[in-house]
Amino acid sequence: MFELHIHTTFSDGHNTPEEVIEKAIELNYSTIGISDHITADGSGIPDTDHCLGFDDFENYFKTIRDLKEKYKDKINVLVSGELDYKAEGYMSVYNEFVKYKPDYILTSVHSINQTQNVWSVADKPQVWEAFAYEFVKLDIDLVNTGTLDILGHFDIFKEHATVNEEKLYPLYDELAEALYKHNVALELNTMNALGPCYVFNSYLFEKCKDYNIPVVVASDAHMISQLHLNFDDAFDRIKKGGYPLPPKGFIEKFKKQ
Ligand SMILES: [Zn+2]
Ligand SMILES: [Zn+2]
Repeated sequence: MFELHIHTTFSDGHNTPEEVIEKAIELNYSTIGISDHITADGSGIPDTDHCLGFDDFENYFKTIRDLKEKYKDKINVLVSGELDYKAEGYMSVYNEFVKYKPDYILTSVHSINQTQNVWSVADKPQVWEAFAYEFVKLDIDLVNTGTLDILGHFDIFKEHATVNEEKLYPLYDELAEALYKHNVALELNTMNALGPCYVFNSYLFEKCKDYNIPVVVASDAHMISQLHLNFDDAFDRIKKGGYPLPPKGFIEKFKKQ
């Protein structure tokens, strides 16, 4: 069992990396990946108070790798980050980040422009539909950069909003093609699923079946009590739908930077 989308006190998580690792051992994980929020600002200066800027990378990678060594007999610890996709800054951030040889690349969209992000539109139902449309367009642009291994929470906009997803199906078709073309796995984010408005929609997951795109379950835990959260439901859904799980050797085959 593995989980590759986990936050710690290096960004907005509530537990230290060591606390996360110890909890993961208790939960019998074979592999975990630490993936703290990374700035989207190409200048390298943290663009929020809960993400890593370029100056933080060295200490971050060293700390997690020291822990990897310390716990190597009990668990396999990987280090990456959750890169935030903004068209302007992404490639500069990516190029700096990969200098530290992360074990994989997880990237997610969180905003569609300077003012609209998944949290700022939560109480503005009149913009949800247009927001979701632009959001999925960015998911596609992101995957087409060819830089990532896992696309994080492609539909996080549903956490606080009821969106008519049928209008998004043509975009989901394009997204599936891009995932296939660039060999990117699709995350099934179990934290989103706990959002007040979240309704699971199988459309894109059916496409994963057509293209044999692996579906990766991740909690996006921000505290140790959220590790493995809702996993049984997620795996049950995958099993019932017949969606592809990551194949053997999935972790070893990440794009080597
Ligand atoms: Zn995220
Ligand atoms: Zn996250």
